Amino acid sequence: MNAPLPTPTLQAVAAADLAALPLIEKWVSFASVSRDSNLPIIEWTQALLESYGLACSLTYDDSGKKANLWATLPAADGETKVGGLVLSGHTDVVPVDGQPWNTDPFAAQVLGDKLYGRGVTDMKSFGATALMMVPELLKRKLKRPVHLAFSYDEEVGCIGVRRLIADMLAQGYQPAGCIVGEPTGMQVVIAHKGKHAYKTSVRGFEAHSSLTPQGVNAVEIACEFVANLKTMHRQLADQGPFDPVYDVPHTTIHTGVIAGGTALNIIPRDCDITWEIRHHHMNSPDDLFAQAKAFGESLLPAMQAVAADTGISHKLNSVLPGFATDAGSEIAQLCFRCADVDPASGAGKVSFGTEAALFHQAGVPTIVCGPGHIAQAHQPNEWVTLAQLAWCERFMRRLADEICIA
Ligand SMILES: [Zn+2]
Repeated sequence: MNAPLPTPTLQAVAAADLAALPLIEKWVSFASVSRDSNLPIIEWTQALLESYGLACSLTYDDSGKKANLWATLPAADGETKVGGLVLSGHTDVVPVDGQPWNTDPFAAQVLGDKLYGRGVTDMKSFGATALMMVPELLKRKLKRPVHLAFSYDEEVGCIGVRRLIADMLAQGYQPAGCIVGEPTGMQVVIAHKGKHAYKTSVRGFEAHSSLTPQGVNAVEIACEFVANLKTMHRQLADQGPFDPVYDVPHTTIHTGVIAGGTALNIIPRDCDITWEIRHHHMNSPDDLFAQAKAFGESLLPAMQAVAADTGISHKLNSVLPGFATDAGSEIAQLCFRCADVDPASGAGKVSFGTEAALFHQAGVPTIVCGPGHIAQAHQPNEWVTLAQLAWCERFMRRLADEICIA
């Protein structure tokens, strides 16, 4: 997004005014870091929903230590499968290891006009606020079903939600819309970029470092490969194509890790690079990868003239598709109304990936809208303003007005 819109409610919000705060605090108290089991938060949530008379369906990972939760609030006419609205969020959070926190990250705390804690922005506040609404939605009777979708392992590649969506489709659910509550500052995000992540491995040839013509230096070859990625990135940044609605308006190429070599006096044999392409709809990641690969191939004759079994190999580590929903679609228009965001200026596009892409891929029109800002995600002293939490509650209440009979 270009510029965050101002919060419409500028009056100070008191913690006591936030009905969802106790549930947010409860969810934050579960240290559901992606590497650990998320069953404590899932089972607690399941028990809460069952206390309202709702059935929950859990889908597990292979270890059985992590689960997604899917629960349906039926429409007043008994409909559960068709035309529903999914409220979606992940239950896992990133680690706090090595981060200088001033408060206990797993004991959410209000200080001044902000709530601090791991996950308050990314993204337990949205899910907990949706949970807070359940008794009201049931009491006021729904015109259409509402589904709660809480996933595991979002932070390590949107892994868990893939099983939740597969199960949703297998059970015949056909939701008409999905809201993913990742932090957008309560703006309505209708598109995000896709991401392809690669590992490129250079195999060189070892020799004593005094005999450079007799070796193939894998670190230096890798550096040439990375420098070419940077050249490609600069070209995209300078020449586009551009979609000005995105916060970063061009496709980006980035190298995250480079590892190679063992000692100064050995010409290194191996070097690995992990890198990514984050693309908008005007660039093909496959074409960009082919361009990078071709550059690598141009280095091979000189490498193989020294040692025949040298080379460069590539592995596609992960793919998260991009998504784009029409700003005029029912789900987008509903969210503009509930968030009190002007459709003319408020439709955002972001560069970070979310589970929205996978719901979209499954045929469910999806938008991203949630409290807090991505800049605070994954940070030490992660915070969200109480004003954002109040905005999220107001969003949910307006949603209830739209989808409830009473
Ligand atoms: Zn998130």
